[in-house]
Amino acid sequence: MKLRSFLNSRAEKSPYWNPYAETLPREQLEDLHLRKLRALMEYAHHASPFYRRKFQQAQVRPEDIKTLEDFKKRVPLTDKSEFISLQQENPPYGETGALPLEYVAFHSETSGTTGVPLGVPFTSYDMERYGESWIYGYWALGIRPQDTFYFAFNWGLFGGFWSAYWGARRLGVRVVSGGGQNSEGHLRLIQRLKPTVLLATPTYALRLAETARGLGIDPGTLGIRYTYHAGEPGPCSIETMRKQLENSWKAVAGELYGIQEIDAMAPGCPTGTGVHMNELNTFSWSCHPETGQEVAEGEIGENIVTSYVNSAQPLLNYRTHDLVQRHLHCECGRTWHFLKGVVLGRSDFMVAIRGVNVYQTAVENVLGKIAGLSSHYELVITRDRGLDEMTVRAEPVRDVVVSDYGKLASGVEQSIREALGVRLGVELVAPGSLPRYELKTKRIIDKRPKEVRRILDRG
Ligand SMILES: [Zn+2]
Repeated sequence: MKLRSFLNSRAEKSPYWNPYAETLPREQLEDLHLRKLRALMEYAHHASPFYRRKFQQAQVRPEDIKTLEDFKKRVPLTDKSEFISLQQENPPYGETGALPLEYVAFHSETSGTTGVPLGVPFTSYDMERYGESWIYGYWALGIRPQDTFYFAFNWGLFGGFWSAYWGARRLGVRVVSGGGQNSEGHLRLIQRLKPTVLLATPTYALRLAETARGLGIDPGTLGIRYTYHAGEPGPCSIETMRKQLENSWKAVAGELYGIQEIDAMAPGCPTGTGVHMNELNTFSWSCHPETGQEVAEGEIGENIVTSYVNSAQPLLNYRTHDLVQRHLHCECGRTWHFLKGVVLGRSDFMVAIRGVNVYQTAVENVLGKIAGLSSHYELVITRDRGLDEMTVRAEPVRDVVVSDYGKLASGVEQSIREALGVRLGVELVAPGSLPRYELKTKRIIDKRPKEVRRILDRG
């Protein structure tokens, strides 16, 4: 009995949820990755017609992968758009599904490049491991089984906070699910039930604090000791966001970087300056978004992720389009890859315009099909009364006479509306007047306040 309480108190004080895995030396981690990747390739080859065809086209077989370099170089990259089109051909999962439907225990959805959702199937086992991914961040922040979670979240098809809940259950905390009521309703529940942890998107946590002040309640007195966030750049991404959250709630703020179809894959580091990729659940590396070549440690590149927790729809060398800066060391002692500043931008920039997710590549594809336009364009994002707006600035080719610009501009506007289901402003400028960009990400001119935009100009 004495030994048990000693061990328990030691575990309680440990900064790591899984001390062995989180501090495993790099060499051993890589050895583990190689074995898991080969097994995953065997599985994907056997179970998924999509991967069988991909591997055939790339002339690679599971047994060809002898090193991690082989995996990065020879296994083709995959993209959300491929999954979406196969699912559309044959719903719900088409050729991307690797298991019969009766194995699927949970379905969630994410919106796609043209508003078409990507379906994400989970088995019970996937849900367990995916949920556990959240605990690494909870634990590192100081959250323990004695805490009570409040979910200020409207439960629906979005899998993010469902998985946060699976993690909370696994950790053994008390859970209060606020559901889809208004901010005042949430605050009254928080007052009455005294949760110690608030789970919400960072902007909603700030809005809730604002509403509290409006009601004459100081949010800092409500007993919330931790706030935890995902879904948008949060306290590990933006320092001012951390200060606002922590000062409002008198709490420690944490962040998780997850992608619904992959995993709750990167819990926040307790230093508050970035996140660690969960290397039990994922294998990841960074590439130059245009050449596909691996970039060196510390250089900004696109995060390419393979998931070990999606057995119903495997993801190998999956393009996240997130630009990250990867480091092999972190002062917190974790050996898992550290992404400083979380996501620094998008190789495929996305912004929600009146509820429609508009991706840079989708706009570019439309522009590329319009006769009379050159390949030079910029996307200008502004924010007016809390709503984002996007204007396309494009250069016609020199043959187009200026008197025809008006007609061409309305044609561009109509093509965008038909293809993407949203109306964007269109402005045509004289040939040769736009800067010549080397990197696609530089074509986004984000004029929104710093707190709401993803940081694009560090690349
Ligand atoms: Zn760290």
